Amino acid sequence: MAADVETVVVGAGVEGLGIARALANKGQQVFVLECHDRTGTETSSRNSQVIHAGLYYPQNSLRAELCVKGKALLYGFCEENGVAHQRCGKLLVATSDEEITKLEAIAANATRNGVDDLQRLSADEARKLEPEVVCVAAYLSPSTGVIDSHGLMTALEGHLTTRGGQVVLETTVTGLSQPGNGADHFVIETLSAGETSKLTAKNIVLAAGLGGTELGHMLSYAPGYTVPETYPARGHYYALTGAAPFKHLVYPMPQGAWLGVHLTLDVAGRAKFGPDIEWTDHVSYDFDEANGARRTKFEREIRRYWPGLPNDSLQPDYVGVRPKIYKLGEQVADFALHGPTTHGIPRLVALYGIESPGLTASLAIADHVAGLIV
Ligand SMILES: Cc1cc2nc3c(=O)[nH]c(=O)nc-3n(C[C@H](O)[C@H](O)[C@H](O)COP(=O)(O)OP(=O)(O)OC[C@H]3O[C@@H](n4cnc5c(N)ncnc54)[C@H](O)[C@@H]3O)c2cc1C
Repeated sequence: MAADVETVVVGAGVEGLGIARALANKGQQVFVLECHDRTGTETSSRNSQVIHAGLYYPQNSLRAELCVKGKALLYGFCEENGVAHQRCGKLLVATSDEEITKLEAIAANATRNGVDDLQRLSADEARKLEPEVVCVAAYLSPSTGVIDSHGLMTALEGHLTTRGGQVVLETTVTGLSQPGNGADHFVIETLSAGETSKLTAKNIVLAAGLGGTELGHMLSYAPGYTVPETYPARGHYYALTGAAPFKHLVYPMPQGAWLGVHLTLDVAGRAKFGPDIEWTDHVSYDFDEANGARRTKFEREIRRYWPGLPNDSLQPDYVGVRPKIYKLGEQVADFALHGPTTHGIPRLVALYGIESPGLTASLAIADHVAGLIV
């Protein structure tokens, strides 16, 4: 039986759109199914919009490899397609002598990951670049930047549609199956405007972010394979009212896998701080001020590197939710890009745990996933 569509991608976030574009570039007919009425309204529009250099991730991990590759691809794509971005650079700062060992360990890790442009700065040199920042030592990462993630997704969708692909909005995937043993197609059940329907696809890619695990559980796999569970972790952002006295992003020392309350600028130069981290059982984008305790904590963390933060200058901005696939206290998980050799189902690729640096890595993830469709 011929399938209705060659390839269905579930999820029109930056990963789904990037993968769909990569497959369309290979000549495939691709439909992207998205439950919301617009593309990229979940994690892809609730992040820091930073093009990461690749400093923190373990050597030889997918996160390291695809971040470094993805960064180069992303800068090239932005330049070719007029996507707003800035290679503004970032300062990674140690605010006490005790933090210098950690600072040097991150720089050494970055070198192992192939990041070869870090510059060691003394406190005075850092102050010349950012007069308001107080630290005892720093590294400048010149290849860190910021991007308009909405502009990126619009450009990816444009490439897809000009190659004959389609994004189908307000269509929730409610069921996945493979009729019969070794069937040559997938059956995808959808709900759209209260109506259920079915379509068939030869290949399927699950790029559903926080919804990935629920979809993954709908199929039967080779013995021994387990669909990764998703453990959401919320992150709040505060925006700075007034003009930002910074030209670079500023990151304190990370605390475990959390990068700390850092300062980022958007492409228009607006400053925001965050995200913090709060593990949760359910996904919610409501901003919780925690009776003022959250703001107090942010102010304390920010003043470690910016003592001049004016009182009452932070305003609640937004919340993003990380689709983590490990629990609090467990070892940090790598990106899970599961193709047929991992789960045993031909022509299926499923993505789990695509948290940071998933935006930076998106074009490299897309190429990797396109290569797994067999
Ligand atoms: C707080 C935070 C900060 C971050 N900062 C950065 C950063 O600065 N730099 C960086 O590189 N990365 C960053 N990231 C990571 C980056 O944002 C993500 O890796 C990336 O956006 C993931 O994209 P996605 O397409 O996988 O997920 P999403 O954008 O969540 O897309 C998944 C889509 O699938 C849809 N969907 C789900 N279930 C179904 C269904 N059943 N049927 C139809 N549609 C469905 C959803 O509606 C959604 O649109 C950050 C992440 C967070 C949470």
